[in-house]
Amino acid sequence: MNNLRDLPSMELLLQNATLLIERFGRPLTLDSLRLTLDETRARFKTDPETILPSIDNILDQAESHLSTWTSPTLLPVINATGVILHTNLGRAPLSSATIQAMNDVASNYSNLEYDLSKGKRGSRLIHAESILQKLTGAEAALVVNNNASALLLVLSALANKKRVIIARSQLVEIGGGFRVPDVMKQSGAKLVEVGTTNKVRVSDYKDALGAKTGLVMRAHRSNFKIVGFTEEPKLKDIVDVAHDADVIVVDDLGSGALLDTANYGFAHEPTVQESLAAGADLVCFSGDKLLGGPQAGIIIGKKVLIDRIKKHPLARAVRADKTCLAGVTATLVHYLKDEAEREIPIVRMMSITLDQIKVRAEAWREEVGYGEVVFSESTVGGGSLPEESIPTFVLALEVKSPDKFLERLRKANPPVIARTENDKVLFDPRTVLDEIMLINVLKKVLAEYL
Ligand SMILES: *Cc1c(COP(=O)(O)O)cnc(C)c1O
Repeated sequence: MNNLRDLPSMELLLQNATLLIERFGRPLTLDSLRLTLDETRARFKTDPETILPSIDNILDQAESHLSTWTSPTLLPVINATGVILHTNLGRAPLSSATIQAMNDVASNYSNLEYDLSKGKRGSRLIHAESILQKLTGAEAALVVNNNASALLLVLSALANKKRVIIARSQLVEIGGGFRVPDVMKQSGAKLVEVGTTNKVRVSDYKDALGAKTGLVMRAHRSNFKIVGFTEEPKLKDIVDVAHDADVIVVDDLGSGALLDTANYGFAHEPTVQESLAAGADLVCFSGDKLLGGPQAGIIIGKKVLIDRIKKHPLARAVRADKTCLAGVTATLVHYLKDEAEREIPIVRMMSITLDQIKVRAEAWREEVGYGEVVFSESTVGGGSLPEESIPTFVLALEVKSPDKFLERLRKANPPVIARTENDKVLFDPRTVLDEIMLINVLKKVLAEYL
């Protein structure tokens, strides 16, 4: 008959747990052993026939608790979906130079707020500013935590208790419940909608302009399209009527491409340079969408306005940290040196040729020894180029249950995220960074599954 008194003592367990203590520290190891013993006693209470675990059983169980407690929940995954900027998968992977720059300031002290020439306190706001000025020709720039905070800051600093004119067709929800009208409310700005859901004209803006107008805003429809009976004025025409009334124009580009996406077979996404050329006083965009850098919100434009924004109390609350500033700068240098296609992963993924993709998909087919290479489509995703796709080749696997197969892939190490089409599981080489890793996971999962 089993007897709880035969359970090994804590003292004995600890004597045998030297390896666990070395790996996880004594206090945590002690916790895990206590929990394991509690679990054993509880099991014994409900079922006295239960076999008491050996010392090794208990240590194994404790180790499993310890690794759960100490493993990160945020892990690298392989993105085989062909969606280049997958918001759920962390948007843009970074260039090596960007990672290096972030690592350098993270592992050292830096001149974040220290003026090296004067030997006294400097400003973190100058970092990334000069390169943004050089790249875009803007008078001034400010980098903050993300584009949502950039918008909140701009509206709070320039339009608190004032009217903000925006087209009804641009009152969008970006995702995750982030809605442009809510941000306006939060900033204290008073929303003035003009036009209808499908049409807005210059005259609509003109009629709405007046006293107490803080600014005119344009928000890029980054995740949906309006098609059919539609009309929207050019940014330049909106700028002209706003400036006639002495009102500034803020353009929220969302993605903020610096390169023309039409070069890669996608539709044209409005570029930062175009917004400035059209006369927008401020332009806001994300660091981790089409720019291909770390999470950031970038505000560029007129110096007098940026100076006011920098002084607003919220600027401190949404400021960028040192690794972000280093990473944004390093990513922008790739554009300055005209090497974005070679160095920035998401630009590389957009610019890779169909032939190159086919060669890779066929090599995968060879390695895996299963499936077929078929024509398909990749998309950009992540609040850029809605409904747009470019041709690609994928490895397509026919399996009994695609859903179960996808689940096995998600549980692999590292997890693989793929998609299904016509009951086949598709793997798009365009977004896969580590092919050897993918092939290994695929072989393993297929061996267990087929
Ligand atoms: C994505 C997006 C935002 C939010 O940018 P984050 O960097 O994700 O905070 C704001 N406006 C538009 C139009 C967007 O597409």
